[in-house]
Amino acid sequence: MAGAIVLVPVGPVPADLVEWLAGRLRAIVGQKVIVGEAIPLPEKALDPQRRQYRGDGVLAGLQALGCPGVDRVIGLVEADCYAPGLNFVFGQATVAGRDAFVALPRLRETFYGRPPNESLFRERVLKEALHELGHTWGLGHCPDPRCVMYFSNTLADTDAKGLEFCPRCQEG
Ligand SMILES: [Zn+2]
Ligand SMILES: [Zn+2]
Repeated sequence: MAGAIVLVPVGPVPADLVEWLAGRLRAIVGQKVIVGEAIPLPEKALDPQRRQYRGDGVLAGLQALGCPGVDRVIGLVEADCYAPGLNFVFGQATVAGRDAFVALPRLRETFYGRPPNESLFRERVLKEALHELGHTWGLGHCPDPRCVMYFSNTLADTDAKGLEFCPRCQEG
C-alpha cells in the first residue's frame, strides 16, 4: 500500500482549513491523508526586503522533516512566497519528488482588499494542492485551461480551472 500524504502547516495556519483539506484530498486522491505537526516559517528562506519567503527554501525545510514511510509532504504556508524570476508563487513542488507547498495569503480575497470568501478560498487551496501534487507525480503544465495542471499566472486562472486532471494528464 502506498504511504500517506502528510499535510504540514507552516506558520499559523487555521486548523479547520487543514482538516478540511485532508478530507477533500482523501476523497479525491483515494490515498491516506494525515495532518502533521505544524512547523515554524523557515526564517532562512525569508527575503527581508521583499518580505517574502523563497520557495526552494520552504521546500528545503519540508525536505528536512524525516517523515519516514511518508509518500508525499504538502506544506501549507501562511506566508507570501516567491521564486527567482517570479513576483510570487501560489505553490511549488519538487518535480517527481516528495515535497510540495501551497502559499495561502494570495488565495484569500482579503489579500486584494475584497470581502472574505471562505468557500472560494478553500476551493483555491484544494486546486493548488492538487496541482502541486501533480508535479510531485511528475506532471508538467497542461495547455488545457480547465485542467488542474494548467499554470496559474493569476488568481483568475485558478478560479477558471477545475479540480480534475484532464484525460491526457491522467494518463501521464
Ligand atoms: Zn505548476
Ligand atoms: Zn491536463
